[in-house]
Parts: sequence; structure tokens; C-alpha cells
Amino acid sequence: MIKKVVYPGTFDPLTNGHLDIIQRVANLFDHVVLGVAASPSKKTMFTLEERVEQAIEVTKHLPNVSVKGFSGLLIDFVKQEQADVLIRGLRTTIDFEYEFGLTNMYRHLQPNLESIFLTPTEQYMFLSSTIVREVAIHGGDIRSFVPEFIAEAIEKKVQS
Ligand code: ADP
Repeated sequence: MIKKVVYPGTFDPLTNGHLDIIQRVANLFDHVVLGVAASPSKKTMFTLEERVEQAIEVTKHLPNVSVKGFSGLLIDFVKQEQADVLIRGLRTTIDFEYEFGLTNMYRHLQPNLESIFLTPTEQYMFLSSTIVREVAIHGGDIRSFVPEFIAEAIEKKVQS
């Protein structure tokens, strides 16, 4: 059975926590589509095009990972990609409550779609894109939390 999965998110910015999950998923499944959501309701630091470009750059060492931007309903994107499984990352119980609600809605909308949850290594348990953005805006060093290519992009954005 060829298993194609979608790992969706806003990735604003993509952190080492996201990358940890991507690497785990790439080891488990045949093909991983990283779905970068337009998320128009969020005031993102980076445009969709910038986030897609960054994701392509930092996953280029993983041959079975491809990156695609999408807008609209996640389940429509998953259908269009002909994927069977949705991947989400779980950090704390706060994520759990939120993800549980989302999963029930996805199952209602698309009963055949399965969701799988993975946890990152301990050191990224409390890492979020929001924290990285906040630290960067206030001049803190974010290089241990994001890949180098993204750290440089954040620094440029903050200075502009
Ligand atoms: P969204 O807008 O969908 O919440 P995010 O980019 O914030 O997008 O997160 C995408 C997915 O990655 C979510 O499932 C989220 O729980 C997970 N995630 C975010 N940060 C981490 C992390 N440090 N470790 C593991 N999973 C994470």
C-alpha cells in the first residue's frame, strides 16, 4: 500500500519542532505533502509564497517530502492530493483539546480521512511559531529554534 500523507500548517515560520515532525513522518510514509496554509485570518509575518519557499529549502534533503501552498478547506486540499492520512503535531494538552475538536470536524466532513498525531522530541515540546516571532521582534536570538535559512529570513523581515 502506497501511503501518501498531508502535514498541514501555517508554518509562520517553520520551526525545528515542525522539522522534527516532518522527519519522523518522512521515515514512516511513502510520500509526505507539506501543506502550507494561506491562513488569511492570521496576520502572518511571511507571505504564503515566502513560507512555501522556506519550506522547500529546509526540506530539500528529504526526497519523499514535497511542499504545496493551499487556501480554502483543508479537506479539499487533502482530497485534491489524493492522500489518505492527515498528520498533526501534538505538544501539550492544550494542543490535544484543540486538535481533538478539529479532528472531529474533519471526520464529519470526510469520514474516510484518518488523522495521526505525532509528538516532537522533548526539547521542542514548548516551541511554537508564535514564540519564535515574539522573541525575534524583541531582538532575541532564535537560531536554536529554527533552521539557519529561516533565521536569516526572520532577521531580514524584522529589520525591514
Ligand atoms: P496551524 O495554523 O495549523 O496551527 P502551525 O504551523 O502552528 O499551524 O502548526 C502546524 C502543526 O504543527 C500543528 O499540528 C501543530 O500542533 C504542530 N506543531 C507546531 N509546533 C510544533 C512543535 N514544536 N512540535 C510539534 N508539533 C508542532
